[in-house]
Amino acid sequence: METLDQFRKIFQNRHQYARDWKARTGKQVFGYLCTYVPEEVIYAAGILPVRVLGSHEPQDVTEPHIYTMFCPFSRDILAQGLQGRYNYCDGIVYAHSCLHMRQTFASWTKHVPMKYQRYIFVPAKVQSPRAEPLLTKEVADFRKSLEEFTGKPITDKDLDNAIDVYNTNRRLMRQVYETRRGEQPLISGTEATHMVLSSMVSDKAEHNKLLEKALKELPTRKDLPKPGTRLMVISSILDSVEFLELCEGLDAIIVIDDVCDGTRYFWNEVQPMEDRNNAIALRYINRPACPAKDWEKRNRFPFILNLAKEYNVQGAIVVQQKFCDPHEFDIPPIMNMLKDNGIPSIFLEFDITVPVGQFRTRVEAFLEMLQLELV
Ligand code: SF4
Repeated sequence: METLDQFRKIFQNRHQYARDWKARTGKQVFGYLCTYVPEEVIYAAGILPVRVLGSHEPQDVTEPHIYTMFCPFSRDILAQGLQGRYNYCDGIVYAHSCLHMRQTFASWTKHVPMKYQRYIFVPAKVQSPRAEPLLTKEVADFRKSLEEFTGKPITDKDLDNAIDVYNTNRRLMRQVYETRRGEQPLISGTEATHMVLSSMVSDKAEHNKLLEKALKELPTRKDLPKPGTRLMVISSILDSVEFLELCEGLDAIIVIDDVCDGTRYFWNEVQPMEDRNNAIALRYINRPACPAKDWEKRNRFPFILNLAKEYNVQGAIVVQQKFCDPHEFDIPPIMNMLKDNGIPSIFLEFDITVPVGQFRTRVEAFLEMLQLELV
């Protein structure tokens, strides 16, 4: 479907998209390093936030700056900065997620200096009662620093408009995900990932128009994805589209995910409140949790299990970015939880480059096992 292909093109040509956007709007672009960054505030300042993503290419530039036993994602995106691939960005923003990404941000600000750089503290225990006032203050300070940077106030009306654009995007993405629940999903996991990744790197107002068009066209789509064994993918980030294509080329279809370039990015909205800073802070506190933030209530577990059941998942692929501690601690209990609920899973470990050939054999064997269990 041609409209779906446009999401893929935006993602694949993301640097050109951002450069073109700057040229046609005359506005600035910021890179951001984690999905806990309150993008709405950047957007309200008239600046385009784009998520810094890796390239999965081999590289030898990060070793002097960051440990090789830091996760491949943190090293890959630092490499993008050091190689100048984000040199169109006017600023870089990081919201504290984990130590590896913290180091990437520290190296980035030292070696890839930009006009604006900002560290936003996000407490590890976001579910603690003290997190709300703390994060509200962080959002307020961030707003103020952007006002100083641009020389223009960010009014409540500006924030309302940004919240509306972002909430609309989240709502539309959930509608798209609804079309994957049935026996014949209307889009594949690869296509859904292209949608989410493209929303992270493009102007959400433009992305919303494209999503609306796709949602109109999907019910009469002719080139439907091939149905197969229904899989869930669980990971930190899973932006290796090549790997998703590999799985979906093997008589399987990915119907749902718990990844930070999937449901965790868009599942919940900002709820209206008189204090906009508070409303935005609460949205990030209440979002589906990353394990680096889910220390108190362990909300991530019921979230994953509910999705697996609602989307009638037959098996799960659990991906670990090598050396990622927050996810590593969660993986054994997640796999046990799925097993106790009759959902087998397979564990794969990713590095910067993704050895697709090796993974093919393992995913094939997993799918064969699932087929035998289903007979
Ligand atoms: S993959 Fe893990 S270690 Fe790497 S940035 Fe994400 S949470 Fe941090």
